[in-house]
Amino acid sequence: MGLFDFLFASKKENKKPAHKLVNLNGVRFKYSKNKKSKSIKITVKDPQTVNISLPFNCSYKTAMDFVYDKMNWIQKNLELFEFKKIDENHKTKTNNFIVQRAIIQKPVIKSQKGIISFIYPFDKDFYSNEIQSEAKKALKKALYLEAKEYLPKRLNEIAEKFGFKYNKLSLKSHKTRWGSCSYKNNINLNINLMNLEDDFIDYVLIHELAHTVEKNHKENFWKIVNTCMPNAGEIRKKLKKISPVV
Ligand SMILES: [Zn+2]
Repeated sequence: MGLFDFLFASKKENKKPAHKLVNLNGVRFKYSKNKKSKSIKITVKDPQTVNISLPFNCSYKTAMDFVYDKMNWIQKNLELFEFKKIDENHKTKTNNFIVQRAIIQKPVIKSQKGIISFIYPFDKDFYSNEIQSEAKKALKKALYLEAKEYLPKRLNEIAEKFGFKYNKLSLKSHKTRWGSCSYKNNINLNINLMNLEDDFIDYVLIHELAHTVEKNHKENFWKIVNTCMPNAGEIRKKLKKISPVV
């Protein structure tokens, strides 16, 4: 493919902007010059974003050559996001997602008494892209049901325990964020939290509730978070490595 032609299509820069964006097959390659960085660093952030940080005195051309060399690695990491398979025995928090096989032509999603069953044709491979994409739809339904049961209750418990006040809670399915808090103190939580363990969920809830008091991530914000959850730092580090994409 003319993947690389595109990369090199950008002309030499006369000025020195601190960012440069290159779009490639729906993926954004964001080059950022960073005073603190000593070498070129590539981070595959999500299926649509690759971040490249480079030292200030490094040219974009050099960084693009570097990215070119690492394209196989980047591709592999993008695919990990894209084709992350769900397991036939995928367990959600309250076990309301069940996978079954049957003699049917097409996959079916059934909802009964709070249980989401995903039934797929016995002669199809569960791990094929076709069945996976249907199974993911079913799982999303199950996660949403669970999230509706669990997250509002838990958020209220924590808010009451530590004296936080928020306005409204909405449940979302977001690819890159676990939660957010608006300036009006409306909280959004990601239904994919239901794939995580309790500590991680609590951390995200506390983090967003702390934003009802402090809208930034400065010292006082972390002080509040740590008061509510002394091991917050540790949990945060681990959570950074988990992507909400299912
Ligand atoms: Zn935050």
